[in-house]
Amino acid sequence: MLTPKRKQPVLFLDRDGLIVDERQVDSFENIVWIPGVFQALRLLRASGLFHMVMVSNQDGVGLPHYPSQRFWPPHERILQTLAGEQMVFDKIHLDFSMPQDNSPNRKPGIGMLGEYLDGSYDIERSLVIGDRLTDVELAKNLGCRAIWFASDARKEELKQGRAGELNLSETCVLVTESWDEVVRWLLGSDTLRTHRTASIERTTKETMVALQLDLDGTGSGHPSTGLPFFDHMLQQIVRHGQLDAVLTAKGDLEVDEHHTVEDVALVLGQAVAKALGDKRGISRYGFEILPMDECLAQVAIDFSGRPWFAWDVEFTRERIGDFPTELFQHFFKSFCDEARCNLHMQVGKGNAHHQAEALFKAFGRALRSAVFRYPWNDELPSTKGVLS
Ligand SMILES: [Mg+2]
Repeated sequence: MLTPKRKQPVLFLDRDGLIVDERQVDSFENIVWIPGVFQALRLLRASGLFHMVMVSNQDGVGLPHYPSQRFWPPHERILQTLAGEQMVFDKIHLDFSMPQDNSPNRKPGIGMLGEYLDGSYDIERSLVIGDRLTDVELAKNLGCRAIWFASDARKEELKQGRAGELNLSETCVLVTESWDEVVRWLLGSDTLRTHRTASIERTTKETMVALQLDLDGTGSGHPSTGLPFFDHMLQQIVRHGQLDAVLTAKGDLEVDEHHTVEDVALVLGQAVAKALGDKRGISRYGFEILPMDECLAQVAIDFSGRPWFAWDVEFTRERIGDFPTELFQHFFKSFCDEARCNLHMQVGKGNAHHQAEALFKAFGRALRSAVFRYPWNDELPSTKGVLS
């Protein structure tokens, strides 16, 4: 059975001021291309990720001051030239009204665009790209977001007057007049998606652990567990996993380290599972071979929904400082149980500090690879149709 096609986001592209210069294009001489537009549109088209439509107001085409025969030949030339660069629009919407007509088809009106609002498209992830504030307002009216093709110096205008009242700065995700930047933003990053976060607090008679986690972070945060070496190891996960984590643990260290280490692992595993949600678009598998001087660590993770833990590690010392090395196995096993992943870990002989650190670094990097989300991809990486 064929999988139903996923809903596509739409790129609503302005013409004048975005593709060609903002002047009345009523002659071939007046076609002046915006720098970078050919490569940008070719890349966006070739990505296959978007339904691409043109939405343009052309004031008074057909009226005496702008006869149709002066509009169409240059317009067709624009489309032909773009087609020669492998950029063909899926649809073109043109409105010829004058401002005083108050036409519902005139931007920011959505009169011409009803077909995109019937649930056939992923409107929340769609974008209007245009050079006027009315383009940003159009995005707001459509329920999508906007890239305002304007100089950064105009950013303040988003907060002023009518734009401010309409909260257009919330609708506008990027202000730039560089096509390169638009393409980088759309194809090279995951910025349109919300961050995958989880917040967990766990209190027992033995420990109190609180964690705020952002899987799409930048590697910031300083874990605080009362166990300096453990904090140092957790920091490796944060840094090499590019997670943002605010983690505090207060445990019964007067008894020993066991409860604290175990409960931090349980909370971390729960938070990762919660933040991953249904796992759509993720890589799912992550693996890392990481050298650290004389040690070589290997870690492989599969967020399959099934816990399995394989541990091939012999520490060369029982303690690192005050920290018992046997607890590392328990830490990763507990994580694995709660995150419901396969986790295989191995490290060669060497300095015990290096062995531990190499394992934690490799774990962080494997985790980062496994939770990686492909831009604009909502596929579930499973033939079973479920990863839980
Ligand atoms: Mg324009």
